[in-house]
This record gives sequence, C-alpha cells and structure tokens, in this order.
Amino acid sequence: QKFVYDFTEGNKDLKDLLGGKGANLAEMTNLGLPVPPGFTITTEACKVYLESGEAPTELRDEVSEHLTALEARMGKRLGQADDPLLVSVRSGAKFSMPGMMDTVLNIGLSDASVEGLAVQSGDERFAWDSYRRLIQMFGKTVLGVDGDLFEEALEEAKRAKKVSVDTDLAAADLKKLVKQFKKIVESQARRAFPQDAREQMDLAINAVFDSWNTDRAKLYRRQERIPGDLGTAVNVCSMVFGNLGPDSGTGVAFTRDPASGHQGVYGDYLQNAQGEDVVAGIRNTVPLADLESIDKKSYDQLMQIMETLENHYKDLCDIEFTIERGQLWMLQTRVGKRTAGAAFRIATQLVDQGLIDEAEALQRVNGAQLAQLMFPRFDEEAVTELLGRGIAASPGAAVGKAVFDSYTAIKWSRSGEKVILIRRETNPDDLDGMIAAEGILTSRGGKTSHAAVVARGMGKTCVCGAEELEVDTKRRRMTVGDRVIEEGDVVSIDGSTGKVYLGEVPVVPSPVVEYFEGRMHAGADDADELVAAVHRIMAYADRVRRLRVRANADNAEDALRARRFGAQGIGLCRTEHMFLGERREMVEKLILADTDDERESALATLLPLQRADFIELFESMDGLPVTVRLLDPPLHEFLPDITELSVRVALAESRKDANENDLRLLQAVHKLHEQNPMLGLRGVRLGLVIPGLFAMQVRAIAEAAAQRKNAKGDPRAEIMIPLVGTVQELEIVRDEADRVIAEVQAATGTDLKLTIGTMIELPRAALTAGQIAEAAQFFSFGTNDLTQTVWGFSRDDVEASFFTAYLEKGIFGVSPFETIDKDGVGALVRSAVEAGRATRPDLKLGVCGEHGGDPESVHFFHEVGLDYVSCSPFRIPVARLEAGRAAA
Ligand code: PEP
Ligand code: MG
Repeated sequence: QKFVYDFTEGNKDLKDLLGGKGANLAEMTNLGLPVPPGFTITTEACKVYLESGEAPTELRDEVSEHLTALEARMGKRLGQADDPLLVSVRSGAKFSMPGMMDTVLNIGLSDASVEGLAVQSGDERFAWDSYRRLIQMFGKTVLGVDGDLFEEALEEAKRAKKVSVDTDLAAADLKKLVKQFKKIVESQARRAFPQDAREQMDLAINAVFDSWNTDRAKLYRRQERIPGDLGTAVNVCSMVFGNLGPDSGTGVAFTRDPASGHQGVYGDYLQNAQGEDVVAGIRNTVPLADLESIDKKSYDQLMQIMETLENHYKDLCDIEFTIERGQLWMLQTRVGKRTAGAAFRIATQLVDQGLIDEAEALQRVNGAQLAQLMFPRFDEEAVTELLGRGIAASPGAAVGKAVFDSYTAIKWSRSGEKVILIRRETNPDDLDGMIAAEGILTSRGGKTSHAAVVARGMGKTCVCGAEELEVDTKRRRMTVGDRVIEEGDVVSIDGSTGKVYLGEVPVVPSPVVEYFEGRMHAGADDADELVAAVHRIMAYADRVRRLRVRANADNAEDALRARRFGAQGIGLCRTEHMFLGERREMVEKLILADTDDERESALATLLPLQRADFIELFESMDGLPVTVRLLDPPLHEFLPDITELSVRVALAESRKDANENDLRLLQAVHKLHEQNPMLGLRGVRLGLVIPGLFAMQVRAIAEAAAQRKNAKGDPRAEIMIPLVGTVQELEIVRDEADRVIAEVQAATGTDLKLTIGTMIELPRAALTAGQIAEAAQFFSFGTNDLTQTVWGFSRDDVEASFFTAYLEKGIFGVSPFETIDKDGVGALVRSAVEAGRATRPDLKLGVCGEHGGDPESVHFFHEVGLDYVSCSPFRIPVARLEAGRAAA
C-alpha cells in the first residue's frame, strides 16, 4: 500500500484517497499549471493512524523519500540554515469541511533558518514575522496551547509600540515576540518549540490526522451528513509567499459569478498579504479586476488559467492563488459552491457552450435547489434593518410580531395576529407555539436542534443559532447590540439565508412558481433568465425519466394546481379529508350509530356529498388516473375529544342539566376510546366492521365515474383499500366492491373499467405481498405508516420528542419519515415489489407516503422499479426533476 503521492502522481478522481484539495492540486499540476511542488499523504494513512493511534510505519520512509525528491527539485533542504525550504501542512478531506480541521504554515523555520530566510528574502521583518506565525500556529494546533495567549502577547506588543496593525511591527519587535512566544510554548506545553524541521513536520502531520476527530469536526460532519470514517488527507506543499512586498499578494477567484452564473471576472485580491490576512479582514481587498492594473502579466496568466480550468472541469471553479514577487502560484481549486439559481443557469450555459450534455446538466442541479427556488422570498430591494444572521434551518420567508413564549404565540395567533416565536432554544413544550407561529427564531442550536428538526418537519420557516441575539424570555424581549426588540415588534426572518430583519419586509412570490403556475414565460429580465433555465432542465428531466409523477390531492383545486405543476394523475385522494370541518359530525354519527336505521341514514347523507366530490375530482383529472382511497380515519380524529366531553358532561351534571345526547355520546366515546388510535380501528378494519361504509364510497365513486362517462369525460378511477394486513381482508372488501360496481354499471349502462388495489403500509402486508397481489391490481406503498410500524415510531410524536437526540447522536442523519430508510423500510418495499410482480406481472406499483416527494427517496423508488411516485402538489416539480436525474 502506497501512503504518499507526489502531486504529479494523483488526479481529480482520487478524492477518496487524496481528499478534495490533494486530488485537485494533482490535477492542476498535471495540467501544467503553476502549483508549488509537494505531495499528499492519503486518507488511508489517516485511517491507520486513527485506528491504532500511530502513523503506519511505512509512512515515515515514504515521506522521507518524497521530501528528498522535493528538496532536490527546489534546490534546498527543509529547514536548511542558510536557505530553508519551508512547507505548509494542510488538511484536506474528501468533502470540504471549511475551517474545521488544522493547517500549519511555514514549517522549517527555526532560530537558525530564520536568519537564512532573512538573507535570502532580503527582508528581515518578513522572516521574523513568518517565524512568529509558525510558533503561534504550531503552538496552538500541534501543542494544544491556548491561542489567546499568543494573541494577547501580540496585542501587548502593538500597544507598547502604539500601533494598531501587525504590519507596523518592525523586525526587532517581532524578534522579541518570537522569544515570548517560545516562552509561552515552554510553560504551556512543557516542552521547547522543536528546532528540528523534520520533527515539526511529523508532529504537524499527526496533528492534522487528529483534527479529524475534534468535537467541532464531528458535529459538522453529522450536520452535513459526511461519514465519520473517511479520514483526512494531508498536503505537504512548498511555501510561496504573498507577503513579500507590493509585487506579492493573495486572492480568490471564481470562473463565473457564483450568484448569477454569469461569466466574467469575479474575486478579490489583497496586495502584500497571506491567505489568513484575507480571512481575518485585516485590510480591505480590492476587486479582482484591479489586479490587471497592479500586475498585468499575472492577471493575464490568471485569466488564461481560469479558462483552462473551466474547460477542463466543465464547471464553475473557485480558486485560491498567491503571487510571489510577480510569479503566480495556484494554491487550490475546486468545483465551486453556487446559489440554487446559479446552479440552473450554469447548467444550461454549459450545455450551450457545448461543454456538457443534457444528461450531465441534470446532474448539476438537484431537487433541494429547485425547492429552494420555489419558496416565496423577501423583496431584496425593500429589506429593512438587518438585525443578525443565524443558521438557515428551514426555508421560507416569515413576518410577524415577536413573541417570546408559546402561550403568547397561541393566544395572539388565535386573535388573528401573525407571530414569530423567538426562543433561546425550543423544547417539546413549545410545540403548540411553533404550530401557531409563522416562523421560529432561536439564538442557540444548529441544524439538528429541536427547533430546526421540528420546523422542517412542519414545513415552517426557521432560523436558529442566531448568536448575536440576546433572548430574554423573562422580560419578553431580545437585544442585539444596543437595539432592543420588545414583544409585539415586527420582525422578518428568512429561513433560506438565515437573515433576521427588523420590521416588515415585503414578500414576493417566487418567479419559478409563477412559471409552474403558467403565469410567467421565458423573457429577458433577470428572473426570466432563471425561469428559462428551469424550463429547459425540467424538459430534459421529463424526457428521460421513467417514473411517473402523481399528486396527493383531495379536491379539484389541489388537483388542478398539481396538473399545472405536471402531475400525471392523483396517486392518493384521502377521502377522510373530505369530511373535515362541518362534515365531521356526519362521520361521527356513522361511527356511533347504534341501529341499522341510524347507520343507513348517516350513509344516505354521505353518499351524494361524496359523489359530487368525485365528479369534480374526476373532471379536474380527466384522462388521468385518480386513486381514491376508502376511508382511513384514525378514530380519534373524528370523535369529540374525550377529556373535553367528560368535562362538559361533568359540569352539566353538577348543574343538574346533563343532556341525554351528551351522556350517550360520552358512553360511546368511552367505548371506542383507544390508547393507540394509529394501531386501532382504522382503514380496512373500519370498513369491515361498519356495514355499508365502503359500499357507499364505492357506489359514490362508480356513480361519479358513470356520470362523467355519460358527459363524454374520461374518468379513470382506481379504488384503493388502506391498512390491509392480510389478503383475506382485501378479498372481502373487493368482492363487495365488485358487486356494487356491477350494479352501477348495469343501472347506468356503462363499462367503468374501475381497478381495485391496496396500500402496502404494514409490515405484514409487505411480507405477504405475493398473496396480496392475488387480490390487488395495484399496490401503493404507504411509507408513512410503513415507517411508523417498521420502526415502531409513532409518526405523530417522535419527531418532536426524541429525534433531536437521535440526530445529535448520529443514529440517523435524517428522519426516516423524511427520507426512506433504505436498509429497513426500503428492504421491505423492494421485496414486496418482487413478490407482487411475481404473482401478477402487470401489477401497477407506486408510493404515496411523504417520501414520494423526497429527492433521495425518489432515486430509491426509481431503482426498485416502481411505476410512479405520488406527492403533494408543491413537490411535484421536485419529484419530476429527481426522477429525471435518477434515470439520466
Ligand atoms: C401512508 O401511510 O404512507 C399514507 C400515504 O397514508 P396516510 O399518510 O394517510 O396514513
Ligand atoms: Mg397510511
């Protein structure tokens, strides 16, 4: 096994082994670009080190070999007293983890070689400043010395000299500082700062390995869902200096604008400086375009290199570079991050430039970006005072009055006020307040904090961890600097950027939604350029995808929107949703009916309502399949609340005017009360114990279809039975349905071609799918209930109770209710697909759980061979896009 690769030996596809930075340095080296020579120690070496606590034995020899070659090439030895080779030792994992791991610069400087560097560079101040930086960085990251001690000493030196910036310290001051820094190291680390260059290098390499497992790195990986066992590579690179005078400098550049995608010169440059100075914001950078007048030769060369990189990577690249006395050096490049809008634009621009094809363009965007483009947003022109910035935890733009406790949130929202719930952090007791609020803002916690997890689950705007905000719940206010925001003051929060504004920022609808709604077409201004790109990418996706996309919709309005958004039918009409609001009592009557008469009269009132609903629905989806699911109400959603009713009856009794009806109702509710309603009398079970219920629904569907047919429509209804666990349940319901359908067909003289299928949403159904397929013409996987029952997680409770802890502990990176659990729930889906098709080769297969609109899950459903996914209307474009990406 080889643990060290020269930059000339690697390439950009070796990111697993060389990390992103190392792989790209190698790629640039091999493209003939000016990269300071060096080598990369592999992630494999890091893994051995982390497992055994020691670097592999071969590593030392391999490093020696590569170092010798590097020294030969550079014509000087590491740490050589009269002319030292200096190197940087930098971390670089497969996935970028900005600032999370360690880096040490200027390795090779010592009491002796600092003098050599001073002579060689002709700049004594520079040499001592470099040495000072080495001891500081090495002390902090390798020897674990508290970095503040160095900072304080540096501040003190500036104060003594009455100057404000480091660059005003002269060589003599820096020499003194070096002495002090060495003392700090000795007293804190109880060892001297190592004078041996190779020892410096080896210790720095181990420190970079160790930095893979710092708490902050672990936390970052969990949040970004980066696996914990990848390890980091280590890049050892000969130093070049941007701080050697006005003909030196350092900068960053993008090959095109990461915000708009437009081609041009984007970046920043800082003369006479090193990389950390840019980050630290010590002096102001100038726009990259200014480099042309500062150093035309380097500028022209940089432009040339940027073109080479774009043509080579066929994508937007970002670049870090340094100019050392007029000589340009490339220190890093990678395919650059971009905004969601730029991702779509760049993908189509690259197609137009002939750099990539349509299939590749689809891989350059994703559903999460599209979803982001569909949220309403704040009108950038009209933003008010920026209060602060937190983590963009759940997208959206929310405006409301500040409230600092859930009770007030609920009270105010009941009286019609829009509120933003502001807490230091939220806990499960805040749930009702979160539901009542327009958005949630916290000053603590990251992307997996309670507030973030719950808000995402509810689709509610959330900004968390906005640390500048001092939230004082007792006094019902927050302070930001010297600004005080009292309860009732209006704030606006942007869950896509994490920005928090004082006052009301107007919200504008997303141009992308306007486009899907058919209200906007391609044109010339800025928004339309984005729309045109989205339009083209969606067309590519639709052309290649195999999965069809349907909507979960229960009424004509949602169905029509879904159709505009590209739905190819309805995959789930939840009929219980047709009985919410004022119709709820009709279902209550039906469930509580004691006698046949009562029941039949309840059914008779329901039938025409249902029929009318279906007529509308079939009309809105004319020519496309509509899957109607028979009633599946968890009983508790349709019965009066047992506690409320008990109190009412008790109060009435104490006043001696208890009403007969309430008493009967209470008795019945008691009888039907369930400890676990989600596992109780619902779905097919209800249809089997309430005579006539499913027959009424089937009749309504059949009669509605017949009516549409007679009106020359093209209804394509599919009848779906929920919560089936065994084929016997399905057979009984199917036989009854067949009878009713035959009656309606005879009575109306129509041939309705209705199909009957089932949901697969219980483990037993999935495990016996081969038998169930005997009685079902289609399966639709109800992955909400399937997840609930496979994991034994109550879908209504767990996300708000212990999922935060599970996410923080890394038990899973994302809620299994959000992204399908491939190994567990997904395995059942896969085997049920195979067993079902084995029984009935033309079995139609779909999914209608929430996962149907989740990008990662869509790829899984494509892979297991479903025919369609069904999701809420707003997620249809995302599902179309991801289905295309899965197939491309
Ligand atoms: C499901 O369980 O996945 C499903 C679609 O049904 P519901 O969410 O209505 O229980
Ligand atoms: Mg279900």
